[in-house]
Amino acid sequence: MIIFGHNSKYVVHEPNYEDCTYCNSKASVSLYIYQKYAHVFWIPMFPLRKVGVSECSHCKQVLRSKQMPASLKSRYEKLKSESRTPLWIFSGTFLLIVLVSSLVFISNKKTALTKKYIAAPQAGDIMKIRTSTGHYTLLRIADVREDSVFIQFNQYEINKSGKLHTLESEPFSEDVFILTKEELQEKYNSGDIFNVDRKKN
Ligand SMILES: [Zn+2]
Repeated sequence: MIIFGHNSKYVVHEPNYEDCTYCNSKASVSLYIYQKYAHVFWIPMFPLRKVGVSECSHCKQVLRSKQMPASLKSRYEKLKSESRTPLWIFSGTFLLIVLVSSLVFISNKKTALTKKYIAAPQAGDIMKIRTSTGHYTLLRIADVREDSVFIQFNQYEINKSGKLHTLESEPFSEDVFILTKEELQEKYNSGDIFNVDRKKN
């Protein structure tokens, strides 16, 4: 569940500017500007509109912009347009950009590594493969000799590619098949092979 909503933060205050039309105190009315912003899980994402009120320090009367007398209202509009939106209000958006860029970077790096492994397979490489029946299984490179790649299939197949890791502890068939490196490359290009894991030495 994603919790989102909006909040507001006081950004600027102009003290004791106007006379109060209600209690007639001199220069007792102050203006306050608030920046509304959207948040997701209470992390500020981006600014919405600015709002504001006036308050008389003497009689405590609070007026919203619609209720302000003309002179106060124009002062309010000017203060509102001059007040800056604090940068932290964009922090969630900034975090999101950093997160997405990191994920894209990691994904690109993984794709580059997979391409490298496919082009130069090594004994021990484990590949995730879609079978001709539309299931998924693991393929292990048993040996590589010149242009030939000796492969073994896992004894089990499953119907969800996301659960292929559960086959890692299952045995591989003794039967060995031979592919050329070119055929292996074709299986990757067609999407049948979609992941390669190489244990680090
Ligand atoms: Zn007042």
